[in-house]
Amino acid sequence: MAKIRYTYNAESCKYEPIVISPKIAGRRMLAFLGISFVIGLAGLVYFNYKYPYIDETLQEAKNENLKTEWKVLYKQLDRTSSQLSALEHNDDKNYRVILDLEPLDQSQREAGVGGREKESETIPYSLIRTAYIQSEKIKNRLDIEAQSLQQLMDELAKKEKMWASRPAIQPINNKDLVHLHTIFGLRMHPLLGYVRPHNGLDFTAPLGSPVYATGDGRVSTAQRSDTYGNVVYIDHGYHFETRYAHMTRYIVNAGEFVKRGQVIGYVGNTGTSVSAHLHYEVHYKNQAINPINFFQRDLNNKEYEKLIEVGSKSVTSLD
Ligand SMILES: [Zn+2]
Repeated sequence: MAKIRYTYNAESCKYEPIVISPKIAGRRMLAFLGISFVIGLAGLVYFNYKYPYIDETLQEAKNENLKTEWKVLYKQLDRTSSQLSALEHNDDKNYRVILDLEPLDQSQREAGVGGREKESETIPYSLIRTAYIQSEKIKNRLDIEAQSLQQLMDELAKKEKMWASRPAIQPINNKDLVHLHTIFGLRMHPLLGYVRPHNGLDFTAPLGSPVYATGDGRVSTAQRSDTYGNVVYIDHGYHFETRYAHMTRYIVNAGEFVKRGQVIGYVGNTGTSVSAHLHYEVHYKNQAINPINFFQRDLNNKEYEKLIEVGSKSVTSLD
């Protein structure tokens, strides 16, 4: 129920209810709204003045944090880039040199970077764009380096196969270096009685001493011949072949794969031979070459000189 207000009427000596006309009520309402509007406007102006300042302060603090984080990020990118540069340097200056490969040139290492720079143009903020470009460059260099390392691994596997195939050891146990009887060159033939080219080395050894394959390869011949006696030929690939003659017997068959150091037979005196020995030949592109050149890696300089000295004493071969 609405509250009724009264006023004292002196003429009628009575309290009478106050009656507010709609006009006066309307005016009062308008006045109230007007004052409210002014107060609201003042508040708005005040807060508009006050709050942007707080926002800016917060924003500035946030920016400082972001700048610090960016610095950390850039440092990490720089460090990664330096580490990658060291790896690239090792690749070009060491690994590739050892494996006889050409170094990668800079254009190969930077291939594909331009496209990603274009891609980054869609990124609006410059700090992010710069970091994006830098990280993409590193990613690209890493891809190229990974490919390069794979190429090095493939090349190394090929070289390892080649090195394992190359004749590189003596075909009999000759640790005391006394078993080389005759070296490569013109030698008196013991049965024919005249000087002729001796296409290999003669190693003296007790009958039945093991004979070793001097490199990995495939046995191309294992047979008994009138001149070579029991003989084995090994095809090492890369145009190399070795021959092991006058054995008492061989224990490998044609077509068989052998490893360096594997026993293929035993010293004997078969074919045109005058005493128990191993006649050993190395062929390159179907030409007999001096096998002694292939022992250098197996011997030190003194041992190598002694081997030649011992082998040079006899002018007569044993076959
Ligand atoms: Zn010989």
